[in-house]
Amino acid sequence: MPLAEPLPIVLYPDPFLNQKARALTDAEFASGKAGGWNLAELVDRMKATMYDAEGIGLAAPQVGVGLRLFLMDISENRDAAIAVFNPELLDMDGSEDAEEGCLSIPDVRASVKRAQSLKLKGRDIRGEPFELNAEDLLARVIQHENDHLDGILFITKIGMAAKFMQRRKLAALEDDYELLKRRKTKGK
Ligand SMILES: [Zn+2]
Repeated sequence: MPLAEPLPIVLYPDPFLNQKARALTDAEFASGKAGGWNLAELVDRMKATMYDAEGIGLAAPQVGVGLRLFLMDISENRDAAIAVFNPELLDMDGSEDAEEGCLSIPDVRASVKRAQSLKLKGRDIRGEPFELNAEDLLARVIQHENDHLDGILFITKIGMAAKFMQRRKLAALEDDYELLKRRKTKGK
């Protein structure tokens, strides 16, 4: 089956990435529609976006959709994506430092401290509740993606030294964003 068409990824420092996403209602799960999207189509296109960009996680705000939804797939075959709606993170335990990147902040990588294990509660696309226990990389992906739903980027959680190391790449992204914004304004 051919993949759906990928969506454009919202890039740092677009302020949309700093907004808190909203939970889906039972009525939206029942209708299969929210935020102007058919949920099945949104998930398909987010999957295509995540695989196309070779990511292991993607949150809805990263494709400009302010809903509490993210995808994750840490499988080697890239065929085990799970869509998590209205996630809740519980029983966060332990602490682990590891390097992270983000599809919205290309080429920037830095070490972030995260809980080593947690319990994820969420809803599937039909609104059915499910739970899973995660540790290490999967727990890290869940925390990173869940942060996106609260408007939090991983670069706000890295140390001063790491931020200093990445400052040129961040500044370049900021310049690109300003340029794009100016071009859009002119085009009006
Ligand atoms: Zn990210």
